[in-house]
Amino acid sequence: MKKHNFSAGPAILPESVFAEASEAVRDFNGMGLSILEISHRSKQFVAVLEEAEQLVRDLTDAGEDYAVLFLTGGASSQFFYAPMNLLGPDHTAGYIDTGTWSAKAIKEAKAFGQVEVLASSAADNYTYIPTDYEIPAHLRYLHMTSNNTVFGTQHPDFPDTNVPIVCDMSSDILSRPLDLHKFGLIYAGAQKNIGPAGVTVVIVRKDWLGELKRHIPTMLDYRTHIKKNSSFNTPPVYPIYVSMLTMRWVTENGGVAAMAERNAAKAKLVYDEIDSNPRFKGTVANAYSRSTMNATFVCTDEADSDKFLAACQEADINGIKGHRSVGGFRASMYNSMELKSVEALVNVMQTF
Ligand code: PMP
Repeated sequence: MKKHNFSAGPAILPESVFAEASEAVRDFNGMGLSILEISHRSKQFVAVLEEAEQLVRDLTDAGEDYAVLFLTGGASSQFFYAPMNLLGPDHTAGYIDTGTWSAKAIKEAKAFGQVEVLASSAADNYTYIPTDYEIPAHLRYLHMTSNNTVFGTQHPDFPDTNVPIVCDMSSDILSRPLDLHKFGLIYAGAQKNIGPAGVTVVIVRKDWLGELKRHIPTMLDYRTHIKKNSSFNTPPVYPIYVSMLTMRWVTENGGVAAMAERNAAKAKLVYDEIDSNPRFKGTVANAYSRSTMNATFVCTDEADSDKFLAACQEADINGIKGHRSVGGFRASMYNSMELKSVEALVNVMQTF
């Protein structure tokens, strides 16, 4: 029997995607060849790449002023890629420090220009999303991590500012509608809401590139990949294909607005239980900061933790352990998780 998979990433994908993706490994579109053995320049794969790009555009409202790229190196590479392409030595970028991943992005940016950390919840172990900060008009960009996978916090909205936002959306892209015009650059490792690990989706405003004097290695220059439609070198063919299937699934299931509704319903179910069940408590400081993607909580009595984990295993619930750096529990409920899996978890919490 298929388990209820609450893994934080690589994470759950729709069952129909697993079925179609495994068939394509044997025989892709009746070609008599596996998708794993055809050229990335074949017309069959170019069609996949084009459809994947169009799906990203449709799901994020990205018009022709934005480029959509499929890169490698994970979201972690975007921590340096973005400032290398956008931040000159005399520029200042503002960063909002809301977790481990933001902190890593800040460290990388400092190698390329000036960095102002406008707000940070580090002193409170990243248990909330700061709201009380000014955004100076001179900033080259404002960097945010929309959803903090490790700490279970999420920016419920994005500030209204003329400063373009650069956003790490690794763990909540395609989970809700976006006001794309606020963003100069969005990047996301695919392995939560887009597809499997191995590809990073980048959406970047084209007119923003090419303004720096810095030498940028060819592979690390967004313009290289724009010019060559993400095929300057061999792209991650299979992750792109599975991402395309997953984005088709999102589209067929009502698009990002429907995903937002689904995700809100799942999050409400689990947070209501955390708040009403005396055996558990949430780790996020206020409702405003709570993530719809990753709900983090602990047992009120630490001594219950192992028993609760065993009860989850008994109920075929996988991936519920918190990030190794924070402990406790984390229920990751990305787009393709069904409400019934969250009900199964809540049921274990109630019985416990
Ligand atoms: N940003 C966020 C918000 C993440 O959750 C992660 C981890 N999946 C990363 C960045 C790093 O991603 P990657 O492993 O693709 O480099």
